[in-house]
Amino acid sequence: MEADLLVTTFPTMTEFQRALTALNAIGVACGRIDPTPALSLVAVPAIVMGREERSALESAAPDIAFSGWVDYHIPKVAMPDGPAPEDAAQSGCFRRAGIMVLGPCVADDKKIRLIAHLEGELNPLLPYLNAVLPHASYTPKAETLTFMDGYRMIALFPRRITIAKADEIVDAWLTLERIRFLAEQTWRDRDRIAPSFETRKKPPALEIFKRLPGTNCARCGTPTCLALAMHIWTGETAVRRCLPVFEEGGTFSHLREPLLEICAGMGITGVDYR
Ligand code: SF4
Repeated sequence: MEADLLVTTFPTMTEFQRALTALNAIGVACGRIDPTPALSLVAVPAIVMGREERSALESAAPDIAFSGWVDYHIPKVAMPDGPAPEDAAQSGCFRRAGIMVLGPCVADDKKIRLIAHLEGELNPLLPYLNAVLPHASYTPKAETLTFMDGYRMIALFPRRITIAKADEIVDAWLTLERIRFLAEQTWRDRDRIAPSFETRKKPPALEIFKRLPGTNCARCGTPTCLALAMHIWTGETAVRRCLPVFEEGGTFSHLREPLLEICAGMGITGVDYR
């Protein structure tokens, strides 16, 4: 049954194969989701199995590196046809991506979030992407570019990418491949693009930050209000983690409504605000 199954992903093909060998050795049946060649620069196969089988694998092979696991949902999107992308792995600025962290979005546990590490280096590309993406938010000092891909929230750093609110693993792979393609195309065309170092729009996280108390008391488990705002925006943390705002009789409870309003406006849903 879909609800009882987990999807487990791996940072590399080697770790996936080690897991498969270990499962065979202990006689555990599993399914797998294989990316097509068209996704081969951003994805390695994922394993689908029950919770008990997953525990058995962890006991049998505790040194295998997992990216993480999430509930299995039948993909709503089709895998793309076509060959593997040509030569980008050798020459491009993106090269390959490996998913290092995978988990459910804290703000909406029906969606998934991930952190992918890159073989390439995006920092020289960010001003060009800032020029071609009309709604991106670029912070040159922090070497970060954030933008929305539909309802998915993307943050690009020099050597990693975070994606929040992807639907399931195939949607996440497709999102990573769209980013890879955009990055490589923009890098190839950079002689015809005027790079932009302008921060056109306040990053969405700053809009959340402006409504937090600003005391940096760290009761939410992050060192600053800005850090919590960033985590709320990427879906990693629920807004109610700010106790001075959300606890009973909190000193900043007047900020509750403005915070809920801005989160709802950004489509950050599924949070237990009580
Ligand atoms: S608990 Fe609230 S006020 Fe304290 S650091 Fe976190 S976000 Fe800021």
